Amino acid sequence: MRILLMLAVALLLISCGAQMPPDQSAQPASAEEYKETPEIPSVASAVDAGSIGTALSYLASDALKGRASDDEGIEMAAVYIARYFEASGIKPYYPGYRDTLSNVKPATVNIVGYLEGSDPELKHEFVVLGAHYDHIGAVEPVGGDFIANGANDNASGTTAVMEIARKMAGSEHLKRSVMFVLFSAEERGLKGSAHLADRLDKEGVKVYAMLNFEMVGVPLEKDYTAYLTGYEMSTMAEEMNTLAGEQLIGFLPQAREYKLFQRSDNYPFYQKFGVPAQTVCTFDFTNFDFYHKPGDEFELMNLEHMAAFVNRILPVVEGMVNSEKGVIRMK
Ligand SMILES: [Zn+2]
Repeated sequence: MRILLMLAVALLLISCGAQMPPDQSAQPASAEEYKETPEIPSVASAVDAGSIGTALSYLASDALKGRASDDEGIEMAAVYIARYFEASGIKPYYPGYRDTLSNVKPATVNIVGYLEGSDPELKHEFVVLGAHYDHIGAVEPVGGDFIANGANDNASGTTAVMEIARKMAGSEHLKRSVMFVLFSAEERGLKGSAHLADRLDKEGVKVYAMLNFEMVGVPLEKDYTAYLTGYEMSTMAEEMNTLAGEQLIGFLPQAREYKLFQRSDNYPFYQKFGVPAQTVCTFDFTNFDFYHKPGDEFELMNLEHMAAFVNRILPVVEGMVNSEKGVIRMK
């Protein structure tokens, strides 16, 4: 989510007198300290503030240096995510889960895993669940802190997809196949998703629907939990609320006003496959002040909210994977 968003955020910051980010004067820890990736919870263990916090704090740690897609921190994140998939029994869609982008230099990779569906016909269709795991790296220092850690943008969405994958690996009843994708180079213009959508299309892969997770680290203060970009374009939002049995997903007018549908990794999938491909998000320009700033830190993430969000959206995503033909469709 790029230029318009920055304008919107700048306007808001001016209007609401930004708070100072927490003091980060301590020198960033050496990469050495993080060679060991955190322990990965078992498929059976619950999604809770602890499991969310472990993954998110690593991804948003100073040692990963804000995960710019042309810097070493992104590779550490890629290794961790691949280990997470492997430990959870998610199969590599490409060797080593690694899909090297053809449209940026220096090279960087998307991490792609999958679960095969059980229905003889529907298993040939994929539901794609994605999030970008890159961020912008070093920025103008604020209070001596020059690392944009990207906890909310988008270590939060990355963690949500990793945790959903871990739990779905334990599901016995998935009719369609599910692809889990962590995109790189989103911050350089949706490069990772554009590359993969093009590659999958060339490989003849059928996509039924795509759901992208973006900035889900802090809760919305609304009568729904998250909004969907392109809300009015398909039946996805209403089908998700039917499956949730509650108003989980809502419509955010600013999302349409700022054309957010076109600003995140769902868009290249919509362009390439013409199917419902939308982004779920809990950032509404008023509930988080540190977009693309050094202050986008792990400590500001609401882990209870994230755990509740993941646990409520899990059965919804499974319901989407098992939905009858044509239930989730463009309007
Ligand atoms: Zn983002």
